[in-house]
Amino acid sequence: MPAWSPGIVVVGVLYLVPIYCGAQRDLIAPLVESLVEVFGLQVKQYPPSFDLELAFDSLRGQYSSRILLAQLLREVPEDASRILGVTGVDLFIPVLTYVFGEAQLDGRAALVSTYRLDDQLYGLPANRNLLADRLRKEAIHEIGHTYNLLHCQRNPCVMMSSTNVESIDLKSDRFCDHCLRDFRQEATRIGIRQ
Ligand SMILES: [Zn+2]
Ligand SMILES: [Zn+2]
Repeated sequence: MPAWSPGIVVVGVLYLVPIYCGAQRDLIAPLVESLVEVFGLQVKQYPPSFDLELAFDSLRGQYSSRILLAQLLREVPEDASRILGVTGVDLFIPVLTYVFGEAQLDGRAALVSTYRLDDQLYGLPANRNLLADRLRKEAIHEIGHTYNLLHCQRNPCVMMSSTNVESIDLKSDRFCDHCLRDFRQEATRIGIRQ
């Protein structure tokens, strides 16, 4: 039973769907370990079956996170509690230049990209450990939104909003006490419902 558990057994599976992960594929296994620890769900992987190019915007040269989320939701397995897309491509939503990820608030699907988390994008040497840390924080953050958690101002809570990698590096990979309480309540509600 995970450390956060208030005594319930959460039924369900967190499905992780690698989408165009390419060279970042080796980051998936350590991410799975972290997600099991934090959310207490079984984590399974499966490949996407939809046409990923549906989400490509040729004018921007980026992939629409809205469309990818919608596609992920079209093929949710029956026992899925949550579904997380992990991708190596650059994501956008119409009003922003880019996003690190996106999630359905109080929904089931979340998406996170490694593209802007990689120091090499900024002309710096590759740093795999730092990239793995950033991916873990952003994945936990986005899945946190699916548990109805909003952005948090309590430094260094993982639910703090991040618009650049520096701000990701400054926060932790854990919920603050307030967010942890809200997460537990929501996980309990879901656990009972299931
Ligand atoms: Zn957020
Ligand atoms: Zn918080």
